[in-house]
Amino acid sequence: MNILVCLKQVPDTPDVKIDPQTNTLIRDGIKTITNPFDTYALEEGVRIKERYGGRVSAVTMGPPQAEQVLRDAISTGADDAVLLSDSAFAGADTLATAYTLARAISKLGPYDLVICGRQTIDGDTGQVGPELAEMLGVSFVAYVSRTEEISDGWLRVRRMVEDGYEVIETPLPAVITVVKEINVPRLPSLRGLTRAKSVAIPVWTAQELGIDPGTVGLSGSATRVIKVFFPQRVRRGETLQGDLPSQVSRLVDRLREAHLI
Ligand SMILES: Cc1cc2nc3c(=O)[nH]c(=O)nc-3n(C[C@H](O)[C@H](O)[C@H](O)COP(=O)(O)OP(=O)(O)OC[C@H]3O[C@@H](n4cnc5c(N)ncnc54)[C@H](O)[C@@H]3O)c2cc1C
Repeated sequence: MNILVCLKQVPDTPDVKIDPQTNTLIRDGIKTITNPFDTYALEEGVRIKERYGGRVSAVTMGPPQAEQVLRDAISTGADDAVLLSDSAFAGADTLATAYTLARAISKLGPYDLVICGRQTIDGDTGQVGPELAEMLGVSFVAYVSRTEEISDGWLRVRRMVEDGYEVIETPLPAVITVVKEINVPRLPSLRGLTRAKSVAIPVWTAQELGIDPGTVGLSGSATRVIKVFFPQRVRRGETLQGDLPSQVSRLVDRLREAHLI
């Protein structure tokens, strides 16, 4: 099994700040982590490798410091990793992100399974997995909560739905996104930590991927963020006048008007 796991570096805070000039995240001085859902994706890849043999490769697209998520992935079981980093990739929307990842996956060679997290905790769209499958021309299963079996080029998984689960069989290669119920990610091993420190991680640019810079990053994005803002909460107090019975009656009217009773 050749397994590829896509991991993204995200801010380690729900309190993200937006630059009002550029409408992008202010990343300076913010501690980063591997997107939590992607740690489940990696763990599942490593478990499949342990069960069926093969290799797990970790891939991320991001600025040079995103290399850290790949070193962390190696410390917890990935065999190798590649960083996709180029100023041309900056400002990518989900489509441009998926396109860059798809080009890298195709360059990495034949694969059986691509595993992504169900969504990120910053962008939060859950679009990259399905877009990736579409671009690679392979089948896709979302919200996978258990890998049941892999045999004869077929994968059988459980996927979570609102009121239970579905069992899906799909031919390989395929892309899946996983939920946190799928496993408990392991801690780094001592051997893994040692390897992670010394292993060479190649960095692929747009040129190395044979990509026209106009098709990736902000210029290759089909969407533009026009405005990002936090809604202002306006509290409007009202003091009820009159004697107590009329205040109560007015209060009940107000609550009814607001459909609160
Ligand atoms: C309309 C729009 C405009 C945007 N404009 C900008 C912008 O101008 N500048 C900017 O910095 N960001 C921008 N973003 C955010 C950027 O598009 C996303 O961070 C990125 O495309 C990934 O989308 P997501 O975080 O929603 O991932 P999801 O679709 O929620 O991620 C699902 C899974 O895909 C994989 N994945 C996602 N991203 C990566 C990655 N980079 N590397 C490896 N695996 C990955 C992971 O396994 C992840 O769990 C924009 C987003 C939108 C929706």
